[in-house]
Amino acid sequence: MGKLIIFSAPSGSGKSTIINYLLKQNLNLAFSISATSRPPRGTEQNGVEYFFLTPDEFRQKIANGEFLEYEEVYKDRFYGTLKSQVEKQLSEGQNVIFDVDVVGGCNIKKFYGERALSVFIQPPSVEELRKRLNGRGTDTPEVIESRIAKAEFELGYADKFDVVIINDELEKAQAEALETISNFLKK
Ligand code: ADP
Ligand code: 5GP
Repeated sequence: MGKLIIFSAPSGSGKSTIINYLLKQNLNLAFSISATSRPPRGTEQNGVEYFFLTPDEFRQKIANGEFLEYEEVYKDRFYGTLKSQVEKQLSEGQNVIFDVDVVGGCNIKKFYGERALSVFIQPPSVEELRKRLNGRGTDTPEVIESRIAKAEFELGYADKFDVVIINDELEKAQAEALETISNFLKK
């Protein structure tokens, strides 16, 4: 049976960048594909980055009890982890890596306990976060501001995680993530 690696952080901290790096290493990692009711952005494809659902389809799955956890991260924007998806990957012997918001991260850790490692990716500052979100160029100014507003709250969750990695210099953060996760998977 595989293990679980949970990544949480304010949006723009560099989670996806670090996760994509880890997926290329020899760690037998599979990305947990969440469901969301937000529209795809950029080159995102259904069933790759996310399962894209309408808000009504999402609510139906909540009613059916299909989620391990879910959050309404922004208004009318649901994100959630499908039980079936995670259990399938774990039973195939893969280690599953999650990119979820801080509340979802704590819920998954609570559910799986020692089998899970929760990692918080911390940006050097809120100003730097804004710069990265602007630089990424995938969100409208309104969405960027709502992400920044939420960041303050999310940063307060750092000490609830097993490990905190500061993503200032990307190469350093990636090396630290690789070492931490390799050690956890060996245990
Ligand atoms: P998240 O998945 O946490 O929302 P991303 O991985 O999409 O964040 O990163 C947000 C933006 O910041 C991207 O454009 C990415 O290339 C850039 N970025 C990531 N890490 C760093 C870093 N250490 N220094 C500068 N820019 C970074
Ligand atoms: P984005 O819109 O940038 O892809 O993601 C926005 C936020 O939703 C990020 O903080 C991301 O970690 C979170 N998120 C993505 N999938 C899930 C999920 O399945 N559950 C929870 N709780 N949050 C998620």
